[in-house]
Amino acid sequence: MSHSHRRSAARPVAVEPRPAAGQVQVLPTDQPPEGATTPDARPRLSFAVPTPRGKAPRHLADLDLAGRKAALKDSGLPAFRADQLSRHYFTRFTRQAAEMTDLPAGQREQMCAELLPELITEVRALRADAGRTIKHLWELHDGVRVESVLMRYKDRTTLCVSSQAGCGMACPFCATGQMGLTRNLTAAEIVEQVRYAAGASAAGALSGGPARLSNVVFMGMGEPMINYKNVVAALHRLIDPAPEGFGLSARSVTVSTVGLVPLIRRLAGEGMAVTLAVSLHAPDDELRDELIPVNSKWKVGELLDAAHDYFLATGRRVSIEYALIKDMNDHAWRAQLLADELNRRGTGWAHVNPIPLNPTPGSIWTCSEPGVQEAFVDTLRRAGITTTVRDTRGSDIDGACGQLATEVLTQERATTR
Ligand code: SF4
Repeated sequence: MSHSHRRSAARPVAVEPRPAAGQVQVLPTDQPPEGATTPDARPRLSFAVPTPRGKAPRHLADLDLAGRKAALKDSGLPAFRADQLSRHYFTRFTRQAAEMTDLPAGQREQMCAELLPELITEVRALRADAGRTIKHLWELHDGVRVESVLMRYKDRTTLCVSSQAGCGMACPFCATGQMGLTRNLTAAEIVEQVRYAAGASAAGALSGGPARLSNVVFMGMGEPMINYKNVVAALHRLIDPAPEGFGLSARSVTVSTVGLVPLIRRLAGEGMAVTLAVSLHAPDDELRDELIPVNSKWKVGELLDAAHDYFLATGRRVSIEYALIKDMNDHAWRAQLLADELNRRGTGWAHVNPIPLNPTPGSIWTCSEPGVQEAFVDTLRRAGITTTVRDTRGSDIDGACGQLATEVLTQERATTR
């Protein structure tokens, strides 16, 4: 027996073949969906986007610089001022005319009224994690509410934004999914969440002193790909340098999707090289069909093919998000299957982020046992997959899109009752 053979023989066989006899398998259908109003309620997957009631006022962040110039000109204002106005907005994070002292006093107010109307107003701000996390609930012009979360980490400050009010993707573990989609956000409504966070964070709103907002993740309410056009416009405002936009690094901006394959492919062609995150949560169609309803349309194989092609087109390593749910998707054989599916397409192109859930006694959507989580992570790592367990900040904020808004809404309902 060769030395190397002995070594591999000694390696623990962590992976049982597919569902071993007696292995517990909790199914997403074992309980009504999160936030369901009746026990038999089943939200339906819908790609329809409702028409908004009324149009959001025109805003600088909906337009590129040329569009802003044209808008100023149409209003009888000097087009060249669009540059200065944009710099105030994107580099000083302000929409207050009084702070724009380099603009002619007689025109400031009018310019701000034309291109910087108030689009989002704060309903509530909740601080968590010793002031390193701030969750905001915003009200939009038509009374619709969305959330964003600002988080300070050691090496970065991240904002999680909403791209839609509600969501039509109907994931059974997500309370936003049970609301259905109310409407898409405009590009400026997305960008305003970022502008506000960048300003607050620069002004020292998070504990630890002033910080530069470095990362933006589209993991709040909604499926960004359903709001493709406005999300792409918002991405331009985020990564294009001033005066076009904030000039964030493209790799620090993450678009997260449950798997709208044709739009992943389209995003790969936009030439922006933002990071793509895929909320996979299951490597087998059998479970994913139940867990992520959109899987009925695009299967795991097609989704991973598109994600791999995204990597090839942009050079950006794709994040695979995987919420670990006790006895549902946390089996070691699933970790091995996930690793095999990733490795089959190439090496080093994907990074897996297992997301520990909060313990929720009595719910099927609860955290894995520590040993099970460890075995899942070890299986991936032994197969050569870079794996980082997410820091959940005590509230699942970063990875569980949409759940936060409901948490805030529920708390709000509780306090206003
Ligand atoms: S998990 Fe994300 S995609 Fe699924 S319903 Fe919730 S917000 Fe929509």
